[in-house]
Amino acid sequence: MGNDAVLCQVCQGVLPASGRESYTATRARLIVTNGYCEGGCVERVAARQQPQVHQQPVEVVRQAPVAVPQSPGVRVLTS
Ligand SMILES: [Zn+2]
Repeated sequence: MGNDAVLCQVCQGVLPASGRESYTATRARLIVTNGYCEGGCVERVAARQQPQVHQQPVEVVRQAPVAVPQSPGVRVLTS
């Protein structure tokens, strides 16, 4: 039996024991070295990898054409 069933695949912490048979010397040692998994890691990763289907396309802001006041004073005369 490998450590895969004991360790969290995300944070490498020791997962909560599922039963009496889970309390092994290997597990006890891993708790010392890796600590406990805080839980919710798989859910967090799943949420991160989920495609954001709720994301709306960026709405195009319709801007009314701004009438630039034509002022003869600011016009640069080149001739
Ligand atoms: Zn974890």
